[in-house]
Amino acid sequence: MKNRIKNLVVCEGDLPEGITFENGMAAIDCEMMGLNPHRDRLCLVQVGDGNGNVWLVKFSSNNYDAPNLKKLFADSRVVKIFHFARTDMVFCQKYLGVMPSPVYCTKIASKLCRTYTERHGLKNVCEELLGVKMDKEQQCSNWGAPVLTEAQKHYAASDVIYLHDMKNALDERLKSLDRLHIASQCFDFLPVRANLDYIGWENSDIFAHH
Ligand code: MG
Repeated sequence: MKNRIKNLVVCEGDLPEGITFENGMAAIDCEMMGLNPHRDRLCLVQVGDGNGNVWLVKFSSNNYDAPNLKKLFADSRVVKIFHFARTDMVFCQKYLGVMPSPVYCTKIASKLCRTYTERHGLKNVCEELLGVKMDKEQQCSNWGAPVLTEAQKHYAASDVIYLHDMKNALDERLKSLDRLHIASQCFDFLPVRANLDYIGWENSDIFAHH
């Protein structure tokens, strides 16, 4: 896994200026203090370019200015690939004031094509589609610590390093099942779904009869 990461950079407070995504795709993941956006702060945003370069944008205080990161999230020419985008998008809206768009969610894609299993975690999808075993040991570590350990850095990077390849593999499956279009419609709806979570409808299905 480590060889796939060619360049791992920790950046305080924002992405460096001038990063380009030649294939129009950026892999994104977020680490927070917990899962409640109104209580738990956003600590880290990982960005991968699909060519082995990973930037870990670390937020140590309540300064979320980050103009370069916000520009990327709002850039309509760059698709942001997440695994379970819904939660991360709410935190981006809350702390950075931007709802990332357009987005691709590898978890939704997996649910739409791997109907024979309930196992849609990043680790499971990665293992089946790419034959890569991921280590999830640092998942519950303290992302708000002033200095990240080497293990945390590599764990954080590993969450974005496979997303481009996963998207390609999932798109192949979706295509063969003729489900690319419904997947794309789900991704288009994600900013609305995340906003419903953010404004208080996270636990109710407003499309249900009751
Ligand atoms: Mg993660």
